[in-house]
Amino acid sequence: MLISTDGIVLKVKNLGNDDCVYTILTREKGVITAFSRNRQRISKGMGSALELFTYSNFVLFQSKERYSINTASSNKVFFGIRSDIEKVSLASYLSELLIELAPEEGEDPNEYVRLFLNCLAMLENGKRTVQFIKPLFELRLMALSGYMPDLLGCAGCGESEGKSLCFLPKEGSIVCNDCIGQIHGQLTVQLTPGELAAMRHIIYAPMEKLFSFALPEQALKRLSAITEQYIFCQLEKTFSTLDFYHTLL
Ligand SMILES: [Zn+2]
Repeated sequence: MLISTDGIVLKVKNLGNDDCVYTILTREKGVITAFSRNRQRISKGMGSALELFTYSNFVLFQSKERYSINTASSNKVFFGIRSDIEKVSLASYLSELLIELAPEEGEDPNEYVRLFLNCLAMLENGKRTVQFIKPLFELRLMALSGYMPDLLGCAGCGESEGKSLCFLPKEGSIVCNDCIGQIHGQLTVQLTPGELAAMRHIIYAPMEKLFSFALPEQALKRLSAITEQYIFCQLEKTFSTLDFYHTLL
């Protein structure tokens, strides 16, 4: 059976014997892996359509759970990312997160595609920095994929403003300084009002407004450490692409 779908190439693995396997976030089928032969790729002129982070239209041949790429043509190639090692390393990490968290067949992958495409576009045109995109993507993706933290108010008394609030990465909630005494043996992270406002914006804002907030560079660094810790506490997993990203900074 042939299916046509748009999608973003998340990972390319050369199997060594003329075969390549591609991990693709598609609009129709979520994250899939699909095979293609180098020979076919060259003969059909699919070169750039199968490059990392390219957004392409794929015609796939599906046999049971296996896919092979019949043809591919690029919709958008993010040249401005491919030429910048920091951007490439962040996009690789975001791809690894997507592979870990993106929906399987049967769920709607469109919000995931939209989020990743928007982040790639912002990175490419330099409208937002890697330091801005990283925590935004991490937290928004967690919220999308069933790990939405509750940041509305203190888990103890409901206080939402005014008092100093701490984030609990393991619980995915916040507590105020009055209630924090009841929390024992848990990791707590003190949040500034700006950091809390940014976190709320990232998980609750509609996509059209998602990128419309600002934080000073130091606060973005702290936010990035917080969202990273949240992922680590929730997924109990580390990512090799994230380790590489850190070696660059
Ligand atoms: Zn409280």
